[in-house]
Amino acid sequence: MSLRDDLHAGLAALERDALRRRRRRNTLPCAPHAQVDGRALLAFGSNDYLGLAAEPALAAALAAGAQRFGTGAGASHLVTGHHAVHDELETALARFVGAERALYFSTGYMANSGVLPALLGRGDAVFADRLNHASLVDGALLSRAELHRYPHLDLAALDTLLERSSARRKAIVTDAVFSMDGDVAPLPALLERAARHDAWLIVDDAHGFGVLGPQGRGTVAEAGLSVHPEAWRIVLIGTLGKAAGVAGAFVAGEATLVEWLLQKTRTYIFTTGAPPALAHALLESLRLIEAGDGRRAHLNRLITLFRTRAQLQRWRLLPSRTPVQPVVIGDNDETLAVSAALEAAGLWVPAIRPPTVPTGSARLRISLSAAHREDEVIRLADTLCELERQLA
Ligand code: PMP
Repeated sequence: MSLRDDLHAGLAALERDALRRRRRRNTLPCAPHAQVDGRALLAFGSNDYLGLAAEPALAAALAAGAQRFGTGAGASHLVTGHHAVHDELETALARFVGAERALYFSTGYMANSGVLPALLGRGDAVFADRLNHASLVDGALLSRAELHRYPHLDLAALDTLLERSSARRKAIVTDAVFSMDGDVAPLPALLERAARHDAWLIVDDAHGFGVLGPQGRGTVAEAGLSVHPEAWRIVLIGTLGKAAGVAGAFVAGEATLVEWLLQKTRTYIFTTGAPPALAHALLESLRLIEAGDGRRAHLNRLITLFRTRAQLQRWRLLPSRTPVQPVVIGDNDETLAVSAALEAAGLWVPAIRPPTVPTGSARLRISLSAAHREDEVIRLADTLCELERQLA
């Protein structure tokens, strides 16, 4: 077989197993009201939890930023690409999450895959929840440290792994809100383990930042933990393309930690700085998040409404108090069929299949947003119940 035949065979296998992914082209701004192939669809798949991605004030801030700073940073941060507005954003982010200092990255993927290799190396050990985001897994692999994955939220298994380890440097790594399950990590218990075993606690709050905690300060704040200064071992990562509605990520923590990351993180050092206009828009986004209690209250009402209304029998609505409301169907083909039936009813809910989720747990990843209305959430819940009856 030629190299190209391998690819043909691989693609055919994906098709056969209902694992081939297809992109859909939305012609409208990111909002619940999408248009795909000329059809209006009500979308329940984005991570725009506060409805900020199509917020006119942010678009105006982005445009004003582009007028003032141009379109590109022009170089990496450590060469000539670090602009005053990047710095201003980092200061605002650090203040917002209560950390000494923050470092702004172009994407969450880059922050997550970069931090572990900067902190750990050969002979060290990473202890990771099995359902952590792929970017954290990649970071662990890139670090060359031993990777120990513990069953989802299983603290007893984590304890055993930690006790057995003789690694010099250790890190416990977790999503704060799990991206495909919507549940929340027990951060105080993890911090206690980190302190007991002298490990870093790396927390990816991609889905909690802006949504959970006082003024949306995130899952760490909600848990009553502070990043600074006693809790120096917390390395807090937040992403800025979800609730914040723009793009990018940050790592926040104690000043020495952040200075080390600035010196050593390859995904920060060897890449062009994100456009300063994005940082300008993000400053406005932070103001909206901080003043966003109304949006968060509406979102929480929608979450309760959806869970009360979606009384499913055969499909499993996972326990979740966050905007991520997964309905596990199991089989890949059936999940695709349900997603297609929802689409026929005008509802856009993506099917999530392996390897994004474990084999046999294909699901609809419903995500709710403050931009949804109550009647729209009722329509989704009722359509799901009706489809379950029809397809059972
Ligand atoms: N962490 C988690 C938990 C995520 O869900 C994602 C994105 N889906 C990322 C990190 C990556 O963030 P970004 O999209 O900014 O690269």
